[in-house]
Amino acid sequence: TNEELRCIGCGAIIQSEDPNEPGYTPAAAVKKGLVNNELYCQRCFRLRHYNEIAPVSLTDDDFLQLLNHIREANALIVYVVDIFDFNGSLIPGLHRFVGNNPVLLVGNKEDLLPHSLRRTKLRDWIRQQANVAGIRPIDTLLVSAKKNHQIEELLNTIEKYRQHRDVYVVGVTNVGKSTLINQIIKQRTGVKDLITTSRFPGTTLDKIEIPLDDGQELIDTPGIIHQHQMAHVLPAQDLKLVAPQKEIKPRTYQLSDGQTIFMGGIARFDYLKGPKVGVVAYFDNNLQLHRTKFSNADTFYEKHLGDLLTPPTKTTKGQIPSLERFEFSTDEKTDLVYEGLGWITVPAGIAVAGWAPQGVRVLTRRAMI
Ligand code: GDP
Repeated sequence: TNEELRCIGCGAIIQSEDPNEPGYTPAAAVKKGLVNNELYCQRCFRLRHYNEIAPVSLTDDDFLQLLNHIREANALIVYVVDIFDFNGSLIPGLHRFVGNNPVLLVGNKEDLLPHSLRRTKLRDWIRQQANVAGIRPIDTLLVSAKKNHQIEELLNTIEKYRQHRDVYVVGVTNVGKSTLINQIIKQRTGVKDLITTSRFPGTTLDKIEIPLDDGQELIDTPGIIHQHQMAHVLPAQDLKLVAPQKEIKPRTYQLSDGQTIFMGGIARFDYLKGPKVGVVAYFDNNLQLHRTKFSNADTFYEKHLGDLLTPPTKTTKGQIPSLERFEFSTDEKTDLVYEGLGWITVPAGIAVAGWAPQGVRVLTRRAMI
């Protein structure tokens, strides 16, 4: 039997019979753990290998049950979004399943914003976007999970609003929820301490419970897959080349109408009508921008997609959806936002078009800078 074996994380006696009891470890994993001299119960194992929590779809039965559970709970909801992709971060029906619980809105990936951008403006914008989606956050914070910006502030804010309640962290995949949870664990306890001190009530695989000081829990829920997200529209190897990675350096162009800028082969900007103007592009620093004549743009795209206009590459160009066009006239200084990619700031009084792969939207907002 396994009677004497204990999880080196939580100390629970290892057993392979009941997934709902502490110490559960599938038999094969016990063998493997013994060989590697690293025997963790399934729960601790998952906690260490955080990214292995499988994402779910919104129709997943177990997940819907979890959502219903949140509605009935008395808890603080921490809703994590990607500030570069607000719509891609939306959880359909979120306002329904939060019930009467307060929502703390957390905009992640703040480190990517240029220095010149006032954080309060962007914070106001994501709050407004949340309102449009029917969510009225009790508060809104910008953080960088990766760079550990404002995490202490976030923890204080959570403490302020939760008032001895559980905390549910929700978000779609790719917004950085795992990175954030790991940062929180590190900040509060250090991973090691957490694992040895935690009690692990229940062992459902669809959530992870991190104990808080007062016996309540911070509960991480699985990421939800959102189809209309750059991450699901582009092949992985291309995504790596277009998703912003470092603080964005603005690039300025003097444009006349009738000119087009290609963002690699993944997005496009047409200056349709107006005087000679300056526009500023905010995209990943390594994404190459190409300027060409509007009249020639379609042919140029067909001819050079996969070489001059890359990503996609020669091998992936068949996998990206065709570009879809959105047209706008500006009556104030405006950002043309390419969701998940970045934006272009244009002056008032001109007509422009933005193109993005089908499934990804281009929208406008009052200029942030
Ligand atoms: P999850 O699917 O929501 O759990 O997202 P992950 O934590 O796996 O992160 C998705 C991607 O975003 C990864 O490539 C991370 O490195 C990146 N990421 C997460 N947080 C940040 C952040 O604060 N800043 C930046 N620049 N990237 C981040």
